Amino acid sequence: MSHLNIVLFPDPILKMKAEPVKIIDKEIKELIAEMTKMLYKKPAGGYAAPQFGILKRIIVVDDSYGKDPTRQFRMVNPEIIWASEEEVSMAEGCMSIPWGRVEVMRPEKVKIRYLNENGKICETDIEEDYMGRCLQHEIDHLDGILSLDHATKIRREMFIKKINRRRELGKSFDD
Ligand SMILES: [Zn+2]
Repeated sequence: MSHLNIVLFPDPILKMKAEPVKIIDKEIKELIAEMTKMLYKKPAGGYAAPQFGILKRIIVVDDSYGKDPTRQFRMVNPEIIWASEEEVSMAEGCMSIPWGRVEVMRPEKVKIRYLNENGKICETDIEEDYMGRCLQHEIDHLDGILSLDHATKIRREMFIKKINRRRELGKSFDD
């Protein structure tokens, strides 16, 4: 499989709902491997397949940015099956929406059910707020929801204005 390219806001694919994976075949396993490589090649707390223009329900997350292999999750068809009532606010970045972070309120703890690469149903309790944050952010991507969609209207408009301004100035996303 050729290498993956990150789809950038406002590409309409980022607003689309991803399809559940029916069979974890060789192609899906390769995609998961490629996505995992991207976690460290273009460091991020996580990636969802739609960020590469692939509408499949797959996410990869590592809240240690490669420092601790036990912190890596690769999930197929993940679902949040429980969320704490306590919510916390945190500034979220997104590789599909560079140039700034958006403050987002989310449940502090979550429980997630997913399939691992061998098709086994797994459940995991996420106690740490940053890992919970990464997972919720990536699962949102599977439903076409961006961190920007959680921000207040004023913040969202300001943010979009800032992005457009940079685009007018002809700045690339790497500046
Ligand atoms: Zn994102």
